[in-house]
Amino acid sequence: MRNGNLIDFYKNEQLATTAFKELRLRKGITCKKCGSTQHYWLAPKQQFQCKQCRFRTTLQSGTVLEGSKLPISYFFIAVYLIMKKGNAFTIQEFQDETGHKYYEPLYDFVRKIKAYLHENDQNRILIDFVEILNQQLPVEN
Ligand SMILES: [Zn+2]
Repeated sequence: MRNGNLIDFYKNEQLATTAFKELRLRKGITCKKCGSTQHYWLAPKQQFQCKQCRFRTTLQSGTVLEGSKLPISYFFIAVYLIMKKGNAFTIQEFQDETGHKYYEPLYDFVRKIKAYLHENDQNRILIDFVEILNQQLPVEN
């Protein structure tokens, strides 16, 4: 693991998108239309495409981020802060870190993320994050 503040990596939207895609691949993607689990990654569209019926699945679809218009990096920033701060975590802090203008969407977003963390094994999520992050980080010269 490199030194430096982890949250700065999570704030990188491209990195976050790649990491979120990796997270989805680990869980497996099921086509909503035909139930197939075989998909291609359509890089230009940033979507998965079913090998059977060509139905497309967005990165957010079927996840905690479904319906969210916020950047994917917000997911990692929120998870990071909630895990680090626990009950001391505030939406205000999340707003400061993201620089997002509006409070309301962040409030709803955090509520969803907290429910997600509650339902899932946090240690497993953390291990996945660190592994994925290490894979994504540029090699140090
Ligand atoms: Zn399909």
